[in-house]
Amino acid sequence: MDFFPVFLNIRDKPCLVVGGGSVALRKAELLLRAGATVKVVAPEIQTGIRELDPAPECIQQEFQPQHLDGIALAIVATSSTKVNNNISRLAMERNIPVNVVDNPALCSFIVPAIVDRNPIIVAIGSSGAAPVLARLTRAKIEAILPQALGKLGVLAKQYRQAVKDRFKSITERRRFWELIFEGEVADKVYSGHIEAGEKQIKDMLASDSMDISSKGEVALVGAGPGDPELVTFKAVRLLQRADVVVYDRLISPEIVDLARRDAEKIYAGKAASKHSMPQEDINALLVKLALEGKRVVRLKGGDPFVFGRGGEEISELMNHGISFQVVPGITSALGCSSYCGIPLTHRDYAQSVVFATGHLQNDSVNLNWEMLAQPRQTTVIYMGLLGLSTIAEKMREHGLPPGTPVAVVRNATMPDQQIVIGKLTDISDKVAAAEMTSPCLIIIGEVVQLHDQLNWYSKSVDVGDSQASATSD
Ligand code: SAH
Repeated sequence: MDFFPVFLNIRDKPCLVVGGGSVALRKAELLLRAGATVKVVAPEIQTGIRELDPAPECIQQEFQPQHLDGIALAIVATSSTKVNNNISRLAMERNIPVNVVDNPALCSFIVPAIVDRNPIIVAIGSSGAAPVLARLTRAKIEAILPQALGKLGVLAKQYRQAVKDRFKSITERRRFWELIFEGEVADKVYSGHIEAGEKQIKDMLASDSMDISSKGEVALVGAGPGDPELVTFKAVRLLQRADVVVYDRLISPEIVDLARRDAEKIYAGKAASKHSMPQEDINALLVKLALEGKRVVRLKGGDPFVFGRGGEEISELMNHGISFQVVPGITSALGCSSYCGIPLTHRDYAQSVVFATGHLQNDSVNLNWEMLAQPRQTTVIYMGLLGLSTIAEKMREHGLPPGTPVAVVRNATMPDQQIVIGKLTDISDKVAAAEMTSPCLIIIGEVVQLHDQLNWYSKSVDVGDSQASATSD
């Protein structure tokens, strides 16, 4: 380690900025945010600096050694190497921490890139080696920390003493804070319900019988259509604090791997017409795990409330008084649409879009065909692979022109995404020729023709005749 990381208290301390340009402005701003009394010295000082609030003391002249008198910290941002060298040397002689912008050799300290969720501050340094890399790292951390993290910190500060008074042992206090920061209170604060979060802290502290042991809960989490980068931040956060993850067949291993390393992972996979765990058993499993005090993440493909039987799982949890939340995911229709370059609506082709299930019941598909076979509409059919020929036939019978384009997409958003394009008349044969297997989504409507123009994700290769195209990597 080349530099020792510390957080310095400069509140009400005199700090010097030498330089009057835009870099000096940013540095002065930062010092003011930390409560310093800022003095800016330069022959020319831009108005932005003078207009800062609170206004720094502006000394419009060349730097003089006495400007360092009584200074607790100095930042130098002039364009003159000579001036920079001189101030650095003078400051170091007087043991005043000094930073010369973009010149690590002249610095006794460097300023990290920061992620500010005050009072939580993350500082990232590259020891002066690669400031741009530090900034990119900051962007990543910025993205994973909830915006309201700071609000949670402020709330915790208010109750720190009360928690100390209520719980005598350090272990109890730690457990209490874990419950707050990883449980419902944090979820409330992160979703903007700060008062509700605060009330819960008060209730927990007031309760004589507060059980510090962990309470079971279930999060029904949408994992998106497959590409791990399409998982939400919230899903990742919940996965990282889960004790158990119960996941479906359609979930990519990379997404299951986002869970805490020592979380138990239970496969509850389901495939059309061969359920490996009956729905009732999954419902019962979730209840059992939660009653054991586990934090359960029920990971479901796409969105949990789109053909996901999420509603059934929740009502079972409600019957047992188990606390739960639902985290939406990108449903596969949206994944297919984006990754195949097929907008589901379009000014010229479709003003509405319908999602339907093509799941076979007693070997037939019973749907409201009239409603599905509307002109200027896109119809997306989930679980329709086995019923594809019936679906295409019924759509024609109910008035869609035989030439209406159809796309069948397998493993959308994944590197092995495959798409077959055809018409109502021939799609079934083409899909059979391409030997497509589940999971496949069917998109019917004029918007499908836009694929040729807008496809960006996978390269196309022809299968069968000139109308068919299959894409895979
Ligand atoms: N809740 C899920 C749907 C579950 S039903 C969602 O919102 O996407 C399962 C069906 O979803 C599959 O039969 C298939 O039609 C579709 N599906 C899910 N993932 C898919 C993918 N990556 N590519 C194509 N279809 C997919």
